[in-house]
Amino acid sequence: PSPRAAQVPLRAAVEALPPYVPGARAAGGAPAWKLSSNENPYPPLPSVLEAVRVAAADANRYPDMYASELVEALAAHAGVSREQVVVGNGSVAVLQHVLQAVVEAGDEVVFPWRSFEAYPITVAVAGGTPVTVPLAEGGRLDLPAMAAAVTPRTRVVLVCTPNNPTGPVVHADELDAFLAAVPGDVLVVVDEAYLEFVRDPQAPDGVELLRRHENVVVLRTLSKAYGLAGLRVGYAMAAPRLVAGIRAVSTPFGVSHVAQRAALASLLPAAQAELLERVEALVAERTRVLAALREQGWDVPESHANFVWFDLGEQTTARAAEAMAAGVIVRPFAGDGLRVSIGEVEANDAFLKVAAGWCASR
Ligand code: PMP
Repeated sequence: PSPRAAQVPLRAAVEALPPYVPGARAAGGAPAWKLSSNENPYPPLPSVLEAVRVAAADANRYPDMYASELVEALAAHAGVSREQVVVGNGSVAVLQHVLQAVVEAGDEVVFPWRSFEAYPITVAVAGGTPVTVPLAEGGRLDLPAMAAAVTPRTRVVLVCTPNNPTGPVVHADELDAFLAAVPGDVLVVVDEAYLEFVRDPQAPDGVELLRRHENVVVLRTLSKAYGLAGLRVGYAMAAPRLVAGIRAVSTPFGVSHVAQRAALASLLPAAQAELLERVEALVAERTRVLAALREQGWDVPESHANFVWFDLGEQTTARAAEAMAAGVIVRPFAGDGLRVSIGEVEANDAFLKVAAGWCASR
C-alpha cells in the first residue's frame, strides 16, 4: 500500500477552538503592575512556603491520587461530606472533568456570554455544542433567558457568579426560580471562583443549593482568595454519584503533593484567618476603586469579585495600550471591554490615574 499523505488530522472541534489568552505579564524588567489575571497580589504566607519546602522533599514519589486529606479538609471547610468533594489541578481542570463526565457528543451546554473565556473551550473539548446567552443590563446574568435556552438536547448549564469578567452576582431567588424551571437531568454548574469576595447578602450559597438539588455542581478554587493560583488547586462539590463520575475521568495524580500540602496549610485556622483578612483588605480596595471610578464619571457594574469591568466596545484595545504604556497591565477583550484586577493599593492608584486619563480623552 502506498503511504498516505502523512498529516495527522486534529479533531475539527480542536481546530476551531478559540484561544485562551493568558493575562499579559510585565515585559523585560519594565516596572509594571500586573492587573490582568485576577490574581491575589499578596505572596504566600510563611507557613504555606514552609509546607511547600517540606513537601518538595517527596517529589520522587507520586502524590496521594485522590488527595484524601485535602478532600477531607475541604469537605469540613464547606460543610459537606468527603464523598461530595473532588479536587483537580485548578477549577478549570475540574470543570473540564465535570463536562467530560456528563456531555455526550453534540449535547448542548448553555452558558452566559461574555463570561469566563475557558467556557467555550472546555465545552468544545468535551464534544459539546456551545449555546451562549447574552448578558443583561449591567453585566448581569440573564437567568430567565438562560432557562429559556434549555432544550431537550441541553445537558449542562454554566452559571458564573460573580461573573468573570463583569463582576455582578446572581441573586438567590433568581437562581431558585431558574433551578425550578430547569429539568432535573440537566446539570447546573455554579462557578463560585470568587465566592470569598462576595458581599451581597442576596447572593446564593452554593452548598445550600447542593442540599436541595441533586443536579447542582459547585465549583471553587484556591487560586483567588487563597492566593495559590500558581499551584493549581480547584475543587467541585456535588452529589456522591456525580463526584464518583468526575473522579473517574480526572487526570490521575492531577494535584501535586506540593500543591496538596500548600492547600492544607492554607486551610489551617490561623492561616485561614490571615488569608481572609487579606481578602477583606482587597474588598475594601474594590469599594474604594469603584467609588473613585464613579466619581470620575464611569458607569462600571457592581463587582463582587476582585476585578472591575469597563464596557469600552471598540475603544478597548487602544485604552489597554494606554494603560500598558503607563505601566498598568490590564486584560482587554477586543471590541468588547476591559477587565482590571484589584491589586495592591499602589497598583490601584496607578490604575485610577490611567482611568482619569481615559476620561479626559473621552
Ligand atoms: N472560574 C472562573 C469564573 C474563573 O475566573 C477562573 C480563573 N480565571 C477559574 C474558574 C479557574 O481558576 P483556577 O483554574 O485557577 O482554579
